[in-house]
Amino acid sequence: MKNIISFVLLVCASATYAAGPETVASANRALWPELIDSPTAFDKASRAEMLVFAEVLSQVSMQNAETLKSQLRIKKVNLASVEKIRNKLAGQLLKNWQVAVCDNDAVFCPKITSSQDMVAAGIGLAAKLPENYRAWHSNAKLFHKNYANELIRLAALFPAVTSEIDSFSAIERDGSELPDRQFVLTFDDGPTNKGGNTDALLPLLQKAKLNATFYMLGERLQARLQQTDAAVLSDSFQGQCVALHGWEHQSHAKWDKWQESIEKTNALVKKTFPSQYSAWFRPPYGQRKADSEGFFKKQNLQVGLWNIDSQDWNNHVSGDMAAQRVFTLMLLWRHGVVLFHDVHPKALVAVPWLLEKTNNTGVVWKSCQSY
Ligand SMILES: [Zn+2]
Repeated sequence: MKNIISFVLLVCASATYAAGPETVASANRALWPELIDSPTAFDKASRAEMLVFAEVLSQVSMQNAETLKSQLRIKKVNLASVEKIRNKLAGQLLKNWQVAVCDNDAVFCPKITSSQDMVAAGIGLAAKLPENYRAWHSNAKLFHKNYANELIRLAALFPAVTSEIDSFSAIERDGSELPDRQFVLTFDDGPTNKGGNTDALLPLLQKAKLNATFYMLGERLQARLQQTDAAVLSDSFQGQCVALHGWEHQSHAKWDKWQESIEKTNALVKKTFPSQYSAWFRPPYGQRKADSEGFFKKQNLQVGLWNIDSQDWNNHVSGDMAAQRVFTLMLLWRHGVVLFHDVHPKALVAVPWLLEKTNNTGVVWKSCQSY
């Protein structure tokens, strides 16, 4: 019976997350041999991650279409999209490199003025590394290879399968426009039933003075309102922002009722959370229509994507793994929107760990109201 259940869960999961990666990148922060307890220490670790990612990104993304298909296990590859995303990511890395302060550490401070320089420095890193950084380096190479594969897979599928990897218009934002060291927390797919993970997360955020955005599903909110009075529920979200994730958790790219889904959810969220309502829509799986800008403008909605995916929905990722992955990606991208799911318990472990790790590093958890 257990096997049947696991099989059914596996089939459901793979159908639901059809656009998800085959292998999830996981990082082991304990292998970095220094404490990250100051802005300078953050910058050094950040440059180290950038060098490894730059090398691996160029390896992964420069393959021909046939190799990419078999490597990413997909049937069609949009090479123009792969090139566009590779250039965008490489450009972002170069900008990040320029703001990460160099403390004259010869190993992690090579002179870099172009993306090509960064790839070359990444390749040259192994030969220069002191012994105590070698274990970190092997792990980082593996992590970034899997991570680069995740991103390039999304790029190769775009726009046949839409996702957070690219945008269609200026009303779509993924957090890459935020200033250095600023991060926004977001939680999707809730609210849970009374006494569930959403309820456990809220006091944790309030205690830490974090103002996050909750992208709610209309049908889950409706179910929750059967259990909890609207005023009581709204009170428990004090300080947070509440936005829309559609009525049902399904792709809003190939669903004829996608507009109705958004309008219905918009009305219910507005009515339930008059002080927390935030005019943002996050498409489930990041999947929306290419030509939906007009509709969103009419509804006064912005489209909230993300650039740091915790992968906390994935059965193979624990709360601890999600935390270490997010921290590594914070070092790499240096700003952005972090995606968690309040329907899963992993953020309850990951968020406190991230707060502790980023304390004194100059990281700012930007409030949802100011984003
Ligand atoms: Zn979702």
